[in-house]
Amino acid sequence: MKILVINCGSSSLKYQLIDMANEDALAKGLVERIGIEGSILTQKANGEKFVIEEPMKDHKDAIKLVLSALVNKKHGVIKDMSEIAAVGHRVVHGGEKYANSVLIDDEVMKSIEDCIKLAPLHNPPNIIGINACKALMPNTPMVAVFDTAFHQTIPEYAYIYAIPYELYKKYGIRKYGFHGTSHRYVSKVAADMMGKDISDLKIITCHLGNGASLCAVDGGKSVETSMGFTPLEGVAMGTRSGSIDPAIITYLMQELNLSIEEVNNLMNKKSGVYGISGVSSDFRDIEKAAAEGNHRAQLSLDVFHYKIKRYIGSYAAVMGGVDCVVFTAGLGENDPSSRSKICKGLEFLGINIDEKKNNEGRGFAKVISTDDSKVKVFVIPTDEELMIARDTEEIIKA
Ligand code: AMP
Repeated sequence: MKILVINCGSSSLKYQLIDMANEDALAKGLVERIGIEGSILTQKANGEKFVIEEPMKDHKDAIKLVLSALVNKKHGVIKDMSEIAAVGHRVVHGGEKYANSVLIDDEVMKSIEDCIKLAPLHNPPNIIGINACKALMPNTPMVAVFDTAFHQTIPEYAYIYAIPYELYKKYGIRKYGFHGTSHRYVSKVAADMMGKDISDLKIITCHLGNGASLCAVDGGKSVETSMGFTPLEGVAMGTRSGSIDPAIITYLMQELNLSIEEVNNLMNKKSGVYGISGVSSDFRDIEKAAAEGNHRAQLSLDVFHYKIKRYIGSYAAVMGGVDCVVFTAGLGENDPSSRSKICKGLEFLGINIDEKKNNEGRGFAKVISTDDSKVKVFVIPTDEELMIARDTEEIIKA
């Protein structure tokens, strides 16, 4: 069975066609500048790169082009669109309604639309992508896989904010959490690597990319996560502040006469390691500057590592212990020095890094803790697309 996985952004679209027989990605592609001059599709398949530069006025045009690239006689990977058994769509927000992935029907579409107010930047392009696929493949089943779903098992006392309760009831203000598909995927791989049933394990997953979040996975269920009502809460990130004293917002609005939009922009786009360092939001640039003696660059890294360490400690407390820690995503998978600094000082929890293992090789799942470390520490490349494809297969088979 071949499954098309679609991850739609406002002007871009990522896709993969996955053969579920061996879970191989037959083709991976990216469409950029949808609706803007210079639209371009780049597909990688059979070790080759295939580029189409053609105007695409909207997502329907983009998906049309994706399908034509997949069936292309020379560069394609399937003969006919009918080979696509189903489409799995990444949807950012499923609100409180979805704790699992779901077959898309009119009611599901309505619920995703209802969640636009909770994810105004993300759900609208997800909806556009689903509608475009439905228009071009009316008889192909579509499945929605939500970033929030995995965290629906977080207990009430952990997802309720200490603000008037009516605000939760009336406006849905609570912790939702994000990156759920990634936390679910890597925690499962970690359990497999330990040769244990996930229901017997206490796992802390650290998804550290441009956006970063941690998750406490107890017995296979998310019981706490660092992102909240929005992806702004939690650790410091590339350009996002993470958790700060909420009074800073009103103080800034008052002192600098900032509008809602300006303060939102400051917290989401100008803060994090970028805001502290003034160098870049990319950790590679910051590490280079820090190595050259730039104090603010070093400070931003110290702040980043410290906040993650704090979350790891608190999640061990939340679960009453920890059996393994997993690092994933851009920085988590590729930056041994950050992994080492985050874990330094956590030896009291039984976390001991083997620097040789930490530093050798990348791009594959590996253990980086010492043989006698009580807590196993893993680096596991995330694969949200595969998880979406697995859910899609399971749902349409059922
Ligand atoms: P992601 O959002 O998962 O694609 O992760 C992107 C982030 O990973 C970038 O902002 C980089 O800062 C970080 N990253 C990727 N490779 C490295 C590396 N070798 N060393 C440090 N950071 C890296």
